[in-house]
Formats: sequence, C-alpha cells, structure tokens
Amino acid sequence: MVDARELLPWYEEFQRDLPWRRPGVSAWQILVSEFMLQQTPVVRVEPIWRDWVARWPTPSATAAASTADVLRAWGKLGYPRRAKRLHECATVISVEYGDAVPDDVDTLLTLPGVGTYTSRAIACFAYGKRVPVVDTNVRRVVARVVHGRADSAASVRDLAEVAAILPNDSRAPRFSIALMELGATVCTARSPRCGLCPLSVCAWRAAGFPPPTEPARRVQKFAGTDRQVRGRLLDVLRANATPVSRAQLDVAWLSDPAQRNRALDSLLTDGLVEQTSGGLFALAGEGGEPGPKPAPVD
Ligand code: SF4
Repeated sequence: MVDARELLPWYEEFQRDLPWRRPGVSAWQILVSEFMLQQTPVVRVEPIWRDWVARWPTPSATAAASTADVLRAWGKLGYPRRAKRLHECATVISVEYGDAVPDDVDTLLTLPGVGTYTSRAIACFAYGKRVPVVDTNVRRVVARVVHGRADSAASVRDLAEVAAILPNDSRAPRFSIALMELGATVCTARSPRCGLCPLSVCAWRAAGFPPPTEPARRVQKFAGTDRQVRGRLLDVLRANATPVSRAQLDVAWLSDPAQRNRALDSLLTDGLVEQTSGGLFALAGEGGEPGPKPAPVD
C-alpha cells in the first residue's frame, strides 16, 4: 500500500509549480493542459498552454476560433490531430453543455479526444472526484511499491488496482496527483531517486531492485519519420496566411519525395490540410471553396 500520511506531506512540499495546478484555473483550462500533455513534456507544453488560455479562456472562445488558428497556436507540440480534437471538444462543450466542462467520467468519455486517462484526470484534478487516474508514472509507482516489479505494462486491472489504494476520504484527489508527481519526479523510469522518496515501504526496493521481466519499451524516434515530415509541411502552411503551391511544400522535405507525398496525403486524410480548387494547399479552413476530392498525392 502507499501511505497517504507519507505521500501527501511530501507532495505539499515538493510539487512542481505548474500553472494549470494553481487556484483559479478553470476545468476547461485543465482539460486543455491534459490534451497537450498527452504526448508532450511539461517544459514544452507550459508556454503554449499559457498563450492558449490567455487567448481562448473558455470552450466557446476556442470553438469560435478557426481550425487553422488552432493549428497555428498548437505550434510545435506535435501530434497535431490533438489540436483538431481539442477544437471539436470545445465546440461540443459550448453547444451541448452550456460552456461548462462535464464533471462525470461517463459524460467526459463521450467528448472528442477524451479517453480513459483524460476523462479521469479532469474529473479528479478539476472537480476533486475520487476516481483512479492511471498514467505511465502511476502505473510504474504502483508496480514498484505494491508488486515489487520494476515496471508494468498497461492492463485492464490498472484502474481497479489504483482505486484500491486511494484513500476513502477527501484526500483521494490530492493523493492521485501526488502519486503521479512521485512517478514523474522521483520514481522515474530510468533512475529512481530512492534517497528522496517519502515512502518508507516499497516492495521493489525491499526485494533488492530486481530487473524488469518485460522487454524495455522502444523509445520512439523522430528524425526521419513521417511524423517529422508532416511537421515540416505544417510549418510551411502555418507560416503562410494564404494557400501555397506544391513546389513550396516540396522544399520542406527534399530527401525522399515518396515519403513527402505520403505525409501530405495523411495530412489531407486527417483533415489538417486541404486542397483548393486551384490545386494549392492550405491549413484546414483556409482553402476557400473546396476543390474536387483530391486524388492521392504522387
Ligand atoms: S523507494 Fe525508490 S523505487 Fe520505491 S517508490 Fe520510492 S523512488 Fe520508487
């Protein structure tokens, strides 16, 4: 078990000062942070999040923005489909929920871009609900403290396991965020700093830190991937307020034309880019009257 009497005082003293944790931050703004943090580190999210919530503090303000403006504001956070889903989520909340983010997990799960983790994170962090919130950090801490294993792959049992260690009182939401913080800052994947850990009981430490039994997760590379090419193409479109020619896009990635075409095709399919009737390319919503459905790029 994880002793809340040890974990919570540690969190109060050592938590990072993250802007979306401060008093007065709305549920919508917490939701925005969770979308951005899904696959991007805190240090890159923080400046973009600040600009975003200053510009679009509510769902309706976000919904009123164009898709292209949202994609520009997303900047270099990567995985830009998240930005489009966030825009769609803002529209649903403003139209169907009176501009108020729902507070229960089942309703949150119906929103665009909101899955198992994000729904529970919002219910817990924004509304103080006693619900298990499981990300890779929490899963790792529980694997170590409770099961004596170095790490653990995602499992259908995760939510029940974390629910079982939550305090049965009003400390539960604080406990959830503290558990996550411990995994992010002390009980890290590669070099746990057990000397700084507030927990006096840890099964993995007691067992002498046995090595992982599962193969290490491969770190996703970025250089040379289609994801990098998509980013380069989007950079060109973000920098231009009017549609650009095929030749302007081509210079963004010269080394592999087939890969470039594949990336452009996928951006068109994802609805992040559109082609004008004149054959030019633009960010979604900036192409004017749509042309005929584009043939695969080759
Ligand atoms: S004692 Fe070490 S391995 Fe165990 S929870 Fe603390 S930091 Fe992680």
